[in-house]
Amino acid sequence: MTALLEINLDAVVWNWRALAAMHTGATAGVIKANAYGLGAAQVGRKLLAAGCKHFFLAHVAEAVALRPVLPGVMLAVLNGLLPEEAGDCYAQDLVPVLGSLHEIGWWRAEAVRRGKILPAILQVDTGMARLGLSAADLAALREDPTLLEGLRLEYILTHLSSSDIPESPVNQRQAQKFIEVMKQFPGVKTSFANSSGMFLGAEFGSDLARPGAGLYGLNPTPGRANPTRDVVRLTAPILEIHEVEAGGAVGYGGDWVAKRPSRIATVGVGYADGYLRSLSNAATAHFDDTIVPLVGRVSMDLTTFDVTGLRASPGDALCLIGPGHGPDALAREAGTNGYEILTSLGRRYRRRYIGA
Ligand SMILES: *Cc1c(COP(=O)(O)O)cnc(C)c1O
Repeated sequence: MTALLEINLDAVVWNWRALAAMHTGATAGVIKANAYGLGAAQVGRKLLAAGCKHFFLAHVAEAVALRPVLPGVMLAVLNGLLPEEAGDCYAQDLVPVLGSLHEIGWWRAEAVRRGKILPAILQVDTGMARLGLSAADLAALREDPTLLEGLRLEYILTHLSSSDIPESPVNQRQAQKFIEVMKQFPGVKTSFANSSGMFLGAEFGSDLARPGAGLYGLNPTPGRANPTRDVVRLTAPILEIHEVEAGGAVGYGGDWVAKRPSRIATVGVGYADGYLRSLSNAATAHFDDTIVPLVGRVSMDLTTFDVTGLRASPGDALCLIGPGHGPDALAREAGTNGYEILTSLGRRYRRRYIGA
């Protein structure tokens, strides 16, 4: 009996449309890391049918794998490219997001090799020091415009480091820097906000927004009501129920000791399924409408919950992620963020797509 992961693709489309409606430019779909663990082919196909024309992946190999599913639309590669990947980029009509003079050089070499003008997105670093052209790189491009010969700039792009903290002054600083950089590339379209950035105000608008998290039901406005619809539901059948006397221990290390006679329900989900070990003695699940606490340590393939006083029996389902206790709530219990919860979702779950 394996756990069931339900992924609501209609909700993904609803979220994409809701975000797109907030924005005057186009709205892409970020489907890197297998669409945050939910299935890039399924999500991509659904967004394509809904009218999405721009997709972002992280790796060239991810984009190559998705090209057959997503023909005729922009597949951009956020992590840029290495020299040995330029051939695949060209063959699959990918758009690398270039963030260094090295990457620009490698992509130009491919353009020369093919005798073609190749599409590119330039990423500029406006304060994250992770990817993107530095001020010195931008100066080099100003001094020698031939460095971009052979490339057709589709967008200039930058990424916000603190968009989930609307009051952070970093956001405005990055917006100011990006406006400065735009002057160096007159007529080139821009791409700025991720999901949370789309809620920061008009100066974070651009020709192409890049939401990921908000498509998958993570709250792009932490601390405020979640404007997105739930996408994920994870339920696990109870395998066994154990009656434990007061003073009895549960699980590895006997970390949890019953204070009263207790009924312990075991489900077949563990850290090997991305149900993180840091949830030990910290998470909650739902049995019908009742909150049940996780007791003891999460083990590789099993986890135990206290269902004392409830009419739970083997075969009944516990809801580990679902309405009222979404991936963001589970993330708080684990001490991480909803992104890590989703991208960790295991491969052993039975997956059911709603709206496929
Ligand atoms: C992952 C990513 C996004 C999407 O961010 P969300 O917070 O998931 O909306 C957008 N842009 C870049 C550069 C990214 O790496």
